Amino acid sequence: MRNLILVLGDQLNFDSPALENFDPAQDSLLLIEAVGEAKYVWSHKARIALFLSAMRHFANQVAARGWPFDYIQLDDPHPPGFAERLTIALQRHQPQALRVVEPGEWRMQEMIVAVCSAESVTLRMLDDTHFLCSRTEFAQWGKGKKELRLEFFYRVMRKRFNVLMAGDEPVGGQWNFDADNRSAYPKRTGPGAIPEPALFEPDAVTEEVIQLVEKIFPDHPGQLKNFAWPVTREQALHALDVFVDTRLTSFGQYQDAMWTNTPLGWHSLLSAALNLHLLNPREVIEAVEQAYQQGKVSLESAEGFIRQVLGWREFIHGVYWLDMPRMKEANHYQAEHDLPAWFWTGETDMACMRDSLQQTLEWGYAHHIQRLMVIGNFATLAQLSPQQVGDWFLAIYVDAIEWVELPNTAGMALHACGSRFTSKPYVASGAYIGRQSNYCGSCKYDPKVRAGENACPYNTLYWNFIDHHEATLSSNPRTALMTKNLQKLDAKERERVKLHAQQILDTIDTL
Ligand SMILES: Cc1cc2nc3c(=O)[nH]c(=O)nc-3n(C[C@H](O)[C@H](O)[C@H](O)COP(=O)(O)OP(=O)(O)OC[C@H]3O[C@@H](n4cnc5c(N)ncnc54)[C@H](O)[C@@H]3O)c2cc1C
Ligand code: SF4
Repeated sequence: MRNLILVLGDQLNFDSPALENFDPAQDSLLLIEAVGEAKYVWSHKARIALFLSAMRHFANQVAARGWPFDYIQLDDPHPPGFAERLTIALQRHQPQALRVVEPGEWRMQEMIVAVCSAESVTLRMLDDTHFLCSRTEFAQWGKGKKELRLEFFYRVMRKRFNVLMAGDEPVGGQWNFDADNRSAYPKRTGPGAIPEPALFEPDAVTEEVIQLVEKIFPDHPGQLKNFAWPVTREQALHALDVFVDTRLTSFGQYQDAMWTNTPLGWHSLLSAALNLHLLNPREVIEAVEQAYQQGKVSLESAEGFIRQVLGWREFIHGVYWLDMPRMKEANHYQAEHDLPAWFWTGETDMACMRDSLQQTLEWGYAHHIQRLMVIGNFATLAQLSPQQVGDWFLAIYVDAIEWVELPNTAGMALHACGSRFTSKPYVASGAYIGRQSNYCGSCKYDPKVRAGENACPYNTLYWNFIDHHEATLSSNPRTALMTKNLQKLDAKERERVKLHAQQILDTIDTL
C-alpha cells in the first residue's frame, strides 16, 4: 500500500488535501471509532452520536465511490484506545506512509506522531485547507505581538478575502455593527414566532448509532431525544439554506438575547456541521454576503454573522495552535474551586443557569451568550478551576472540538489567559442577565439584591470579584468603571458582600 489515509471524525470533507491524488489501486482510507475518545472527557451522548453518525455516513459515501477503506467500529474487538487502534491498522496495512490532515486537537496530533514514530511509518501531516487562515499564516500575523486582538485580525481577513468591502473600505463605512447586535427580546411579548431551523429526523444509520451509544455509554450525560443535527453534507447544505432564507434576518439583532423555552433563538446551529467539515466556511460566508447583496437581510445581520465565521472562528483557531500546549494550563486568576456537581444535572435554583444547563443536556447545544454570560460568567465569578470548566465544555456540546472549545473557554469566558487575546474579563452581575432575558422573573433569587438572603449569586460574586481584583481592574481603561462603582459602596457593605460571597462559595453545591 502506498498511502493509508487517516480521516478523523472532524475531517469529513471530500475536498480534503489528504484525498488529493487518491488512487484506489494504491491507497486506502482509514476511519477509527474508539471508546477512549468518548471517555477522555465524559462526553454528552449527542456529541458521541453526532461524530459516529457523520463518520458512518461519510464511510457509506466512500463505499459508494468504490474506494477501499478500513473502518474500525466502536464495538470491534480491539483495545478501546485510539492509539492502539491506529497501531493495529498500521501493522495490518503496512503502508509506505500515513497521510492525515492536521488534527483539531493538540493531544490527537501528539498521539498520531507518537504512533507513527513507534511503528516507523512515514507521517505526512497536511495543512488543513478548511480554514481560510492557515496555522502558519496566523503565526506570521501574530509574530511579535504580545496581545492579539480579534478586531485587527478581522479587518485583515475582510480585506484579504474581499468580504463586505467597497474598494479598500468596509461596506457601510463601518467594520463592525456589534453595538446594533445586542437587543433583548421585547419584555412584554417575548421572542414571538421564530422560524424553525432545519432539523433532521434520524435515519437508519443514526438510529443504529443512537442505540449503540445508549448501550455502551448509558451513564454519560445528556439526552438523545432531540437529536436532529445534520450528519451529511447534503443535510448541512440544506441547513445553511434554511438559515439564510428564514433566520439570518433577525440573527444580528437578537444575537445576545435569551428567553425561557427558546433554546435555539435566531441562531444558525451550523457550528457542528462546520466543525466536522460538512460545510466549508467559505460557502457559508458567501451565502450570507449574497443574501445581503440581494437585499434579503440587513448589513447588521450579515456583518454580525460574517464576523463570527470569518473573524472569531478563524482567530480562535489560530490562537489555539499558537498558544498550545500552555493554553491548557492557563490560570490567570489562580482559580481552584471544583466544578459543582449540578453542572452535569442542571439542578440549581438559579433560573438562568438551570435553563441554560437543562437545554444543554437536552440538545448538546446552548447559544453563545448562554455559554459566555451565564455559564462562563458564573464559572469566572465563582473562581472555578479553568481545567475542570474546560473539560466540561469539551464534553457537553455537540460542536466541541478542542481547537475551538479551549480558547473560547479559557481565553474568552474565564480570562484564564489574561489579556493575551481578550482585553477584559467577560464578567457581569445579575443586572446584565436580567436585561438580556426573562430568566429573573421565575428565579428564587432577586436580581436587585447584592448580598444576604435571596441575593442573586451573580451579584454577590460579581462585587466580590471586583473587590478581589480591584487593583488590576482599575488599571485597565476597559474595566476601570467597574471599580469606580465598587468604590461607591461603603466599607461595611463591601465586607458584607465578601462574607456572603464566601458563604456561597462554601456551599456552592447547594446553589
Ligand atoms: C465558553 C464557550 C465555549 C464555546 N465552545 C465552543 C465549541 O466547543 N465549539 C464551537 O464551535 N463554538 C464554541 N463556542 C463559540 C460559540 O458559542 C458557538 O460557536 C455557537 O454558540 C454555536 O452555535 P451556532 O452555530 O448556532 O452559532 P451562531 O450564533 O449562529 O454563530 C455562527 C457561527 O459563528 C461561529 N462562531 C460564533 N462565535 C464563535 C466563537 N466565539 N468562536 C468560534 N466560532 C464562533 C460558529 O461557527 C457558529 O456556527 C464557545 C463559546 C464560549 C463562550
Ligand atoms: S436572579 Fe440572578 S440567578 Fe436568578 S435568573 Fe436572575 S441573574 Fe440568574
